[in-house]
Amino acid sequence: MAGTGKFFVGGNWKCNGTKDSISKLVTELNSAKLEDDVDIVVAPPFVYIDQVKSSLTDRIEISAQNAWVGKGGAFTGEISVEQLKDIGCKWVIHGHSERRHVIGEDSQFIGKKSAYALTQGLKVIACIGEKLEEREAGKTFDVCYEQLKAFADNVPSWDDVVIAYEPVWAIGTGKVASPQQAQEVHVAVREWLSKNVSAEVASQTRIIYGGSVNGGNSAELAKQEDIDGFLVGGASLKGPEFASICNSVT
Ligand code: PGA
Repeated sequence: MAGTGKFFVGGNWKCNGTKDSISKLVTELNSAKLEDDVDIVVAPPFVYIDQVKSSLTDRIEISAQNAWVGKGGAFTGEISVEQLKDIGCKWVIHGHSERRHVIGEDSQFIGKKSAYALTQGLKVIACIGEKLEEREAGKTFDVCYEQLKAFADNVPSWDDVVIAYEPVWAIGTGKVASPQQAQEVHVAVREWLSKNVSAEVASQTRIIYGGSVNGGNSAELAKQEDIDGFLVGGASLKGPEFASICNSVT
């Protein structure tokens, strides 16, 4: 734990769930014993946010998985930051690799979306990470720095930003980065922030890891000095396992 905030664990439910399965997951989370010194956030699909907000313990905050780049209006299929705040969201995930590489969002657009969310009072989980071929070509740091720079160029402040390093090759594949691989990139991200933003932002911003985190590997990863938490996909759909990941730092 290097960032000065609490350990942070986010559950990204992606495009999964039904009213019934989400009700079961909420019941599991409500009955889980969660340590005090960890910030916990879950990101349900948009259509279930209201259901989750009205049934989940206040101990866990709600995030959206995406938000529009500006004020709402004639933008078919989009959801605005204002609407998300209206239904009780506190966070939004921007820059997730599935939005970068499946939907085709580029770094500048992601930076602008993050800036808009922050100026309207929504906190941002800002995701970065390299693809397998980029890692193999020795471009891991360059890719992460380009993505970081787009956030840095746009965001008005880093106070309400958590950075999630998620190597694309580790997401949903079962191939978790080794604690050393993750720690190496987290240190590089912190150094980049120190050099390009400020030493204060570098020391205070939480940098969390995502990519095949589960109940079996989270404790080892959490021991790394610069891993300040996790963004969890698949394993966040199982209440007891997600709870054990949330408690893995203690
Ligand atoms: P995973 O997903 O835990 O299923 O690998 C992580 C993420 O996409 O945030």
